[in-house]
Amino acid sequence: MMDFITKKGFRNLAQGLIKDYVFYGPVTKDGFPAFSRIEEFSQLKLSQTPSHISAKGFLFPPKETLLRFDIEKGMAEGVADAEKQVLFGLHSCDVHAINLMDRVFSYGKPDVNYLKRRENTIIVGTECVPDEYCFCASIGTMTVDEGFDIFLHGVKGGFIARAGSGRGRSLLKKYASPSKTKRAALKELERLTEKKKTLFKARLDIDDPSLLPLVYSFADGHPVWEKIGAVCYGCGSCNNVCPTCYCFDVRDEVSMDLKKGTRSRVWDGCTLEDFAKVTGGMNFRKTRADRLRHRFNRKFRYLADRFKGLFCVGCGRCSRTCLVKINISEVTNEILRASKERPLAVPAGKSKG
Ligand code: SF4
Ligand code: SF4
Repeated sequence: MMDFITKKGFRNLAQGLIKDYVFYGPVTKDGFPAFSRIEEFSQLKLSQTPSHISAKGFLFPPKETLLRFDIEKGMAEGVADAEKQVLFGLHSCDVHAINLMDRVFSYGKPDVNYLKRRENTIIVGTECVPDEYCFCASIGTMTVDEGFDIFLHGVKGGFIARAGSGRGRSLLKKYASPSKTKRAALKELERLTEKKKTLFKARLDIDDPSLLPLVYSFADGHPVWEKIGAVCYGCGSCNNVCPTCYCFDVRDEVSMDLKKGTRSRVWDGCTLEDFAKVTGGMNFRKTRADRLRHRFNRKFRYLADRFKGLFCVGCGRCSRTCLVKINISEVTNEILRASKERPLAVPAGKSKG
């Protein structure tokens, strides 16, 4: 449903949510957009371009205690802290990323920590404009229809507010005095959406992104992996900023007297040297080329097979942050060029049926 809220309604909505919830939204840090805790409306700086670091840490923190134990008492108790919180100012790609994370953390044995936090999180999306790294239009994530409570599109005089849940509808009524959207505002939104499609500098040279898993299944021997592996620092920044990277390591910390301790999870990254190292020192992905090939295949192939959706939402954060300018859309286009030079066939071992 599309409602209209005035600029004053917007201010009342944000102020009400800031007052009543733990509120995270976009601010400007060192000249760049970033998500942060906000306690005053004046701190909120809606950004049309993406934050450098995604908002995933508010649902899946970089370090999180899962368990407390007492060795003497033979006691262990789970820890699942989840305050009621608002994530405000997420863009369409970020909401798609959260929808993917929901699938990951619900798969198999549900992840209590993530799901409890997710349930307690109100998501308010806002419209965006692509910068030179965004390529969501090529992935099908430029707009979003689910996974948010409210999504706001700036138009003349205020915002078109889409409620994506009953909770979102109630919040709009409670804080923002919504009214019926006029036809002119809807037309304006249509025009803005069409214009946005023309603003992308980065794009993938493929009409149907659902073919990317097949394209990647032929790319294991492509020279691009050695080329980018030769310059990659193995720093893990691309994993850290990505809204859909969810790998973690589990660590136990025990008190000095060895009586009590905690078990925590901390973010891990497949581009780091030790990620695939096992006991005895064997490393399944020894080279940076191996690790980058793995990362790209996770985004466009392996997880697509398991979760039925590409695991790259086209936010461009990994390209934006990489010190040696490894660019995910350019790498994918190199692979696509090779695939166009020789027609795709069903890989050996897979039947056509
Ligand atoms: S691709 Fe770039 S950001 Fe990622 S590990 Fe290599 S150097 Fe770091
Ligand atoms: S792989 Fe890169 S472009 Fe894709 S979702 Fe992650 S950070 Fe964004």
